[in-house]
Amino acid sequence: MARQVPVEAVFEALGHVKYPGFTTDILALGIVEEVKPRPDGGFIVVLRQATERDDVMQRLAANVHQALTADLGVSEVELQVRRVEAELGEKTGRARLAGTKYVVAVASGKGGVGKSTVAANLAVALAQMGLKVGLLDADIYGPSMALMFGTGDERPKAGGPQNLYPIERCGVNLMSMGFFLDDRAPVIWRGPMVMGAIRQFLKDTLWGTQDFLIVDLPPGTGDAQLTLAQQVALDGGIVVTTPQDVSVLDAGRAAKMLRQVHCPILGIVENMSYFVCPDCGERDEIFGRSGADRMAAEEGTGVLARIPIYPEICESGDKGLPITFTQPRHPASQVYAELARKVLAMMPEDG
Ligand code: ADP
Repeated sequence: MARQVPVEAVFEALGHVKYPGFTTDILALGIVEEVKPRPDGGFIVVLRQATERDDVMQRLAANVHQALTADLGVSEVELQVRRVEAELGEKTGRARLAGTKYVVAVASGKGGVGKSTVAANLAVALAQMGLKVGLLDADIYGPSMALMFGTGDERPKAGGPQNLYPIERCGVNLMSMGFFLDDRAPVIWRGPMVMGAIRQFLKDTLWGTQDFLIVDLPPGTGDAQLTLAQQVALDGGIVVTTPQDVSVLDAGRAAKMLRQVHCPILGIVENMSYFVCPDCGERDEIFGRSGADRMAAEEGTGVLARIPIYPEICESGDKGLPITFTQPRHPASQVYAELARKVLAMMPEDG
């Protein structure tokens, strides 16, 4: 008769199994749905299907098997994989956010490259084209939309026991973790909380009917991106980088991450590409040339936009209104508008 391993020990062992390619374990990522003991001393483990890639799920299954049988001594392990239900509305076999036509993620390999500034100005530029646009600040480690849109002390209004209305600014519907925090409060989120927060923000926000939801992802290639891909089909991703080598390298990782979660890469936005001398009008490429071109070529994509360094971009951000809103005729705003047109043109027609 096989020894009955306590269910707590099974959970503990599962807490040491990493999701393939990640440093986070499958418990923290919420991939383990259920663990049920069987009368014969074995266990049924129910996993959420976190990816459509069979090889990843197989690797995950093998790791779970190994951890429970070989390492823990469970006699029999029966794995069941539960597809993530498309409770958000089904379309072409992938979960869609009901009422939202296109979901576009803005990513970067590291912080400080201007990702949130691009996301904010892209959202405003799309809204200026007459589209209905939402902006989800999923950068829960360092949410900045509350500052960038100057929402001050305003808090999202409740629209029912579970639901919140986004806050509207500059024609864009905003939802951000920053609405629930003091400006400077550090956010230390663990895996499951990250998942919970994003899931909640996506589903419980009363976005209404909208053409675009722009998602400002946290920098890097961690849990939040994975969660998003589990929750909603991304129609496209933009990777923001600066021309410096190290940033471009990090951006390459962000591009691979998007690909891993089946998000088509729309292209690269090279931010802080050059500085235009206010006196002589000459371009000064202070961070070097063509890093983004090289990366785009390596990733099989293109450069969607090159945004120069303009002190006005930074000043508007600090004042709490994006430059596309305050100075729509500024050359920087024109670049964002061109980016918005390109993004719209790249969306699938059946969206
Ligand atoms: P990230 O989201 O990548 O961390 P942010 O969007 O917060 O970066 O930008 C970092 C800082 O750089 C902000 O102060 C922002 O105003 C400034 N900034 C971003 N893009 C530009 C630009 N093209 N020219 C001048 N300042 C910029």
